[in-house]
Amino acid sequence: MRQPLIAGNWKMNGSKAGAEALLLGVVAGSKDITKTEIAVCVPFPYLYLGEQLLAGSSVRLGAQNLCTEAGGAYTGEVSGSMLSDFGCRYVICGHSERREYYGEDDAAIAQKLMRAAESGLTPILCVGETLQQREGGETDAVIAAQIDGVVAQTGIEAFAKIEIAYEPVWAIGTGMTATPEQAQAVHAFIRARIAERSGSIADGLRILYGGSMKPGNAVELLAQADIDGGLIGGASLNAEDFLAICQAGDQTAA
Ligand code: PEP
Repeated sequence: MRQPLIAGNWKMNGSKAGAEALLLGVVAGSKDITKTEIAVCVPFPYLYLGEQLLAGSSVRLGAQNLCTEAGGAYTGEVSGSMLSDFGCRYVICGHSERREYYGEDDAAIAQKLMRAAESGLTPILCVGETLQQREGGETDAVIAAQIDGVVAQTGIEAFAKIEIAYEPVWAIGTGMTATPEQAQAVHAFIRARIAERSGSIADGLRILYGGSMKPGNAVELLAQADIDGGLIGGASLNAEDFLAICQAGDQTAA
């Protein structure tokens, strides 16, 4: 069975004091979560704080991006090995905000997945369609292209150590959520796409849903057969809401 994973994506939010309070709140509440794996992907400047405050807890640390290169003269970038050095387990790759605002394409995202793996990190690969693409009936084609574009470079074996997050772009930060049926359909499509290359990797693959997941809709979404967790933006900035989603993970876990 696939253990649920609830990962917070703090994006570029917070302050040192706010990050400390949020980390402490999540750690305190995590003691009541028994079946769900919890992670928080914090901004780079708070990694050290995260490493210190999460030590001894079951909450995993993650980052939101890494460089396509392993090290060297790349001003302003952060390498996978630096993230590992700060105790990161996860790193988000190919979030739609990075695809849209920073021009990340499938080739760059595949490079990042490979750098992450070399550094012992587990990437959370984000895929998802825009509203226009959904309304144009292109959802499956867009998701297939995003997955195939990466697999072509990394090989399918890399997906044994990758989490995928299906994040419909139109649902991110908008308050609009995919219905459980809409999300399940895409998750099943993703699993089938991977299964065409490896049934065992597809079976073990965790596919998270992201897009305005909140305490009020988490149970319904997480109860779907192919939804194995959540990537949580806005609701991860409030310990109580984030932990309520983790509780939903426990409630729906097999
Ligand atoms: C995200 O950006 O990864 C996300 C899921 O955001 P939100 O939960 O705020 O829609």
